[in-house]
Amino acid sequence: MIKSKSLLEENLDCLMFYSYDGGIVLNMNENYAFACIADFNKIQYNIAPSKYITSFEQVKIFQGEKKLNIDYISTLNIDASCGDVILTDKIDLAKTYEIEIDGYDRIPVVPISVFDTKDFLDNYTYDGDDLGAVVNNNETTFKVWAPTASSVVLNLFSKGNNCEAYKNVDMIRADKGVWEHTENCGHGTYYTYTVTTSIGTQTTMDPYAKSAGLNGDRSMVVDLALTNPEGWDNKYTAGTDTYTEAIIWEVHVRDFSNKIKNSKYKGKYLAFTETGLKNSAGVEVGIDYLKNLGVTHVHLLPVFDFATVDESNSNGEFNWGYDPKNYNVPEGSYSTNPYEGEVRINEFKQMIQALHNSGIAVVMDVVYNHTYDANSSFNKMVPFYYYRYSLTGTNSNASGCGNDTASERKMFRKFIIDSVCYWATEYKIDGFRFDLMGLHDLETMQQVETALHHINPKAIIYGEGWIMGSTIDGSPQANQGNICRIKQSYGAAGGISVFNDVIRDGLKGSVFDMTSKGYINGDLQYEANVQFGLSGGKNSVAGWFVNSAAVINYMSAHDNRTLWDKLAASNYDNSLQERLAMNRIGAAIIMLSQGTPFMQAGEEMLRTKNGVDNSYKSCDDINNIDWESLVPGSDFYNMMLYYKGLIELRKSCAALLTPGKTSVNFNRLLLGGMTVLFNSPIGSEVLALINPTVNIDSFELYGEWAMLSDGIHAGASVIKTVSGIIEIPQYSVIILRK
Ligand code: CA
Repeated sequence: MIKSKSLLEENLDCLMFYSYDGGIVLNMNENYAFACIADFNKIQYNIAPSKYITSFEQVKIFQGEKKLNIDYISTLNIDASCGDVILTDKIDLAKTYEIEIDGYDRIPVVPISVFDTKDFLDNYTYDGDDLGAVVNNNETTFKVWAPTASSVVLNLFSKGNNCEAYKNVDMIRADKGVWEHTENCGHGTYYTYTVTTSIGTQTTMDPYAKSAGLNGDRSMVVDLALTNPEGWDNKYTAGTDTYTEAIIWEVHVRDFSNKIKNSKYKGKYLAFTETGLKNSAGVEVGIDYLKNLGVTHVHLLPVFDFATVDESNSNGEFNWGYDPKNYNVPEGSYSTNPYEGEVRINEFKQMIQALHNSGIAVVMDVVYNHTYDANSSFNKMVPFYYYRYSLTGTNSNASGCGNDTASERKMFRKFIIDSVCYWATEYKIDGFRFDLMGLHDLETMQQVETALHHINPKAIIYGEGWIMGSTIDGSPQANQGNICRIKQSYGAAGGISVFNDVIRDGLKGSVFDMTSKGYINGDLQYEANVQFGLSGGKNSVAGWFVNSAAVINYMSAHDNRTLWDKLAASNYDNSLQERLAMNRIGAAIIMLSQGTPFMQAGEEMLRTKNGVDNSYKSCDDINNIDWESLVPGSDFYNMMLYYKGLIELRKSCAALLTPGKTSVNFNRLLLGGMTVLFNSPIGSEVLALINPTVNIDSFELYGEWAMLSDGIHAGASVIKTVSGIIEIPQYSVIILRK
């Protein structure tokens, strides 16, 4: 999602408290109170205005209507706004507690920091690998973690929507707060849980569900062996040996195929399986196009089950999908039948299979930093456990989505690791992009790195490392400032990379200011920002750095304006030819940079969203890739050929692909541009002459060089051999190899 400022500090001052149903309630009264269970005999209160408490009688704690004995109050005879109340008896987390301080409303006491006590961790940390529904022929064992529940009922259905439950079974509380039941049922059985906790009785799906019925409301028992498409060989792609060899193309499932005129599966997973598709001009489109373009990885915007698109009418709404509902279930609106839970799995696997058969690896966008709403299946199972809260009980909102999750909590950390490993092993997903990764704690991401690279050393892992928010326990976060502390597993293709907004904005101006300019479109003062990307995240301009060029270098992604729209807004007074040339300079710099090149799908064909800068729920017409624009001879087509040529060029130059071994040296050109020399002991030298000015510049070469790009064309083959003084046309990058 978009980079947003932390709202946590603002929330600390808000007069809000958490209501019983998990929603946020504004308390506009002058007096407010909030209280949480901090330990098994300790309640912490927070009130405004502060109060001088002189006797135990002024503080009443209730369990139901029963008033409890108080042993101690930390703020007795002190004028205070917060303090501790110690109870004589142990608190039962399954029960409902309330507090009433003289002069303030009687309010619920909610469990929050008690989850971090040794007592809780020792008694309720479950490390089994069998949560969810595990089917064995016609017998299924259901297990769900709900340590603060007083009862859990398993509801069984013959269908994924409509119809009544054919059976309701009380589950048995077992070790570590896990509830379990084994039932004579198998693949295709749908189920929900009705769980009773301190916030009441609610029905929800299984957080560990493998599939679901319509709109993800009912979980499904899945025998995964029955979901494989024909020819499913259960393998990853060959992948790349290092992250720098990867070239990533970021696409939304629906954008990809909605405007492919002959596609039978417009907007569906299966559109990726269709070969031989052409546009009106006879140009190959769809997966054939991708294969030709030469990208190594397709990065899919959210394809796990998200909430906002009604799966029964998927033509009506569009959404990027950053509103997670079932993390381990494929989204239903992209399947041809969202009612039958096995169809979405099978068609998702067909998509992976088709991309793999074309030699293209698949990266999944994962969004564990927030859920669709604060009362998710997680919160219904274990209220208040999975989220971060402010001191006054409001949801932490650094994500801007209203409910930051708590990756540092043991069972959510386990869930994240289990979830990515499940997608990697069952679906052969080759990489993961973590949304707002800077909100996750570093330890969780280190464990993700280790677990994933143990399964597949070539898995590529990266994320949005913006510096934002904070963890519950103050532990370091997986943001740009800390990411260099991630240790790369032995033999892995890389560690964890972060998006490089320094080169993104340095190249063409800030994404938050449509008129601002950068290095390629008129403002040379951003040279150091561009060099930060070219050198793989090394100089001091950013205030952070990475190891082994672990940066994702890019100009455009789904967020913000497309590159072409940005140039139209910031450089409306330049000619079309000049803007095309600026685009080419940027593309060349990204493809030369140490790190991993990344582009929004269609950037290479001048994609436009008509200037819309946040199209997350815009109509299809705004979001679709316009394949019809690819007409030979057109600017769209020529730009695509240039990107394709740059990809070939990058793949052919070892000096560009060996971070750590390659030295990158910069020199200033006479008229303000720069030269960049890439020198690797295991590959030949590459020299780039970058002229982002309106003037023709020149440079004297030492010795003979092979020209791979003249600024308009690019490729792996030699255009001509050059030596001596060479001219560098206005707005161009000449790329030479020795
Ligand atoms: Ca859905």
